[in-house]
Amino acid sequence: MRDHPNDAYRILTAADVPAYLSSRPHLAERLGGGAGDWQVRDVADGNLNSVFLVDGPAGGLCVKQALPYVRVAGESWPMDVNRAFFEVSYTRRLAPFVGVLAPKLHDFDETQFVITMEKLEPHIILRQAMIEGRPMPLVARDVAEYVAAASFYTSDLASPFEVKAADQAIFTQNRALQRISVDLVFTDPYAVSERNRITEPLEAWASCFRADIDLKEAIARARLAYLTRAQSLLHGDLHTGSIMVTEAETRVIDGEFAWIGPSGFDIGTFIAHYVMAWYAKPWHAPAPGFQDWITAEILTFWAEFETRFLGHWRSFRGSADGFPENHFAEPVAAARLESLRRAYVSDLFRDAMMFMAAKIIRRVLGFAQIADFLVIDDETQRAEAQAGALALARSVLVHPERYPDIAALVADLPRFAGAGLDPARSWGTFKA
Ligand code: ADP
Ligand code: MG
Repeated sequence: MRDHPNDAYRILTAADVPAYLSSRPHLAERLGGGAGDWQVRDVADGNLNSVFLVDGPAGGLCVKQALPYVRVAGESWPMDVNRAFFEVSYTRRLAPFVGVLAPKLHDFDETQFVITMEKLEPHIILRQAMIEGRPMPLVARDVAEYVAAASFYTSDLASPFEVKAADQAIFTQNRALQRISVDLVFTDPYAVSERNRITEPLEAWASCFRADIDLKEAIARARLAYLTRAQSLLHGDLHTGSIMVTEAETRVIDGEFAWIGPSGFDIGTFIAHYVMAWYAKPWHAPAPGFQDWITAEILTFWAEFETRFLGHWRSFRGSADGFPENHFAEPVAAARLESLRRAYVSDLFRDAMMFMAAKIIRRVLGFAQIADFLVIDDETQRAEAQAGALALARSVLVHPERYPDIAALVADLPRFAGAGLDPARSWGTFKA
């Protein structure tokens, strides 16, 4: 980490990128030729940073720079550039466990807060594939493996506490982005905030949610769980815009929100974006069967997560403080350990449902809206799609007992699809 601004920091434009890369020979070498041979494209489409793709005769690179402000908001919303440091620290920490499921890092420039990494092409953002109705056969399985490995190997199940303490020493400093998560995910959507961007026909829903004490109690529980349950290293923003895919490959990008928190947060975030894609789909271009594909993928994702997480745990032979091996050596104790493992995974599921619901609500009533809904031009139709997602999210937060397993969640999706724009009308059905 470094203080910012440092005198040498400059915002890079596309025109500056060739000279920048020339000044770092190990990167220039990957491109081949000289600066004059390189093509640069500005592909920033996220909320925060600059991203350039560079092609040379020998290869390509992706160059990502943290700007001193939130890119989509402009200079009026300053933002700590050290987020690039946390993204790099996160990627390096997980590399041994997630392998090719993350892009390879080539360089971190801690003066310019520039990360240079493997260029992913022809990969596209998963959200785009979902909007186009293109099934991606590996992604649920791959992301399940990614999250299972991260949640297991960075937890107290897989190492002595000193290792997690060292991680905490780094990631608890990621306070600027943590502030965004706490405010935008858990706080703003339940209050009047000038950052909220609510589709106009949903004002009645927003106002009901602001007045809903049961919902505020539930979200308080979620917020406190997020702040206090230091279980494993989280990506912190694992939505379909943070995953790049082809039909044969999956890559998780953009770990700048990294934080030590409840493992269910990343799981819930991923499922939330599948659920929202499900509610949005009827208003997209016709894609027969795609909603069914989404529900099948949600089931696959959870089943694969569970299998892989338990698999990592059962085959683990190192020393860890969570469940010391010598406490569970005899057959009876080993059987008890197996039931403790299952209980641990059940707790993760409960957390995942809670965070899934929180993530849905923030994407509908909060600042950072998602393209799955925004591409629905007609505001009333968009609000209809969003109302279904909101009604489901409320049900999950206030009635967790309705969702003992992933099948119950999937079975309940259609029940809320017709929630409609008047919450008072549907309140009897959906609030009860
Ligand atoms: P932000 O932090 O601003 O959200 P992202 O890391 O999500 O930025 O990147 C923004 C966009 O840049 C992505 O949506 C993707 O299109 C592109 N991108 C990011 N990383 C890569 C990469 N390694 N290879 C190719 N394109 C990338
Ligand atoms: Mg992003």
